[in-house]
Amino acid sequence: MSDRIEPQPRIMEIKLYKGGASKIDGINDVVKLSSNENPYGPGEGAREAYLRAGHDLHRYPPTDHSGLRQALAQEYALDPDRIICGVGSDEILTLLAQAFAGPGDEVIYTEHGFTLYPIIANIVGATPVKVQEHERVVDVDAILAACNDKTRLVYVANPNNPTGTMIGANEVARLADSLPPQAILVLDGAYAEYVEGYDGGAALVEARQNVVMTRTLSKIYGLGGLRIGWGYGPAAIVDVLNRVRQPFNLSNTQLMVAEAAVKDTAHVIKSRENNTRLRAWLAEALAEHGVPSDTSCANFILARFGSEDEAAACDAYLKSQGLIVRLVSDYGLGRCLRITVGDESACRRVAHAIGQFKGGAR
Ligand code: PMP
Repeated sequence: MSDRIEPQPRIMEIKLYKGGASKIDGINDVVKLSSNENPYGPGEGAREAYLRAGHDLHRYPPTDHSGLRQALAQEYALDPDRIICGVGSDEILTLLAQAFAGPGDEVIYTEHGFTLYPIIANIVGATPVKVQEHERVVDVDAILAACNDKTRLVYVANPNNPTGTMIGANEVARLADSLPPQAILVLDGAYAEYVEGYDGGAALVEARQNVVMTRTLSKIYGLGGLRIGWGYGPAAIVDVLNRVRQPFNLSNTQLMVAEAAVKDTAHVIKSRENNTRLRAWLAEALAEHGVPSDTSCANFILARFGSEDEAAACDAYLKSQGLIVRLVSDYGLGRCLRITVGDESACRRVAHAIGQFKGGAR
């Protein structure tokens, strides 16, 4: 780049988001437990749709996503006109900032919240404001204390990544009701389907004008590689977001597979059941090895070690054993490893390796 060509001053302050690697040099039998993916992948319906897709490669996809929105509306009992679909929920989270925040505005996120939130705020030139949590749980009072007349967006993941903790519906409603009038509460429900009976905040969206819920097909639907997410909000907000998004943001293949996946409720139920069972097993196995974790509502657990050095050493040991987990120092949790709940053999393997590590095998 010539020295006369310069990005916007704030851009070079943005940290590069680093996705999880899936390979380790010199090891063939690698298990990746670092990106909260569904270990069983997508269901049969989605796999078949993927194989059928690809006939209309010369045709542009529809811009209104009506088939997918109808399927989502049907499965989740929502109004299709208030649904917006995007390239992962990342896109919906980003569109919200592009449309509603800019220089001089503030965007609130929580201490151990998803690292994309401050990145998004910086991209649009707004000021990211980090709010402390209370023992790894989102603190509504602390968020409200940080709000002012510049606050435009408040991002809260419920369940939260990487803590796995959740706040109750009453607390979420209290937050929505007490925000300044110009602020939107963005309820990030990437892990909502892992919580039996939880609507991800849909009822709150129906009842309020200042709440948007975001969801994804990357987690329980097992489609992280295809990049599909969606949002649900007041009609006026969804209208604004549709003006900002790229008209052809989702390909024909994405739309076809997503529609089939959403209709495959059996796969969601089975994945949730396996996750609930193996998450409890894994948490208990680690506790027996002297590694505690908070009760997780999602598809990962946050394993706590005695020190940052110990967590880093365990991360390295697991890697030497072909196990990729996530050291979450960039989330302000350097003493912790976030471990995705894999299938049964992956859970046994990671628990065994942590037992060896704690027993002195380093
Ligand atoms: N929100 C949270 C809390 C997440 O953990 C993730 C994925 N890591 C996302 C949103 C984004 O997911 P996607 O863009 O794949 O839908």
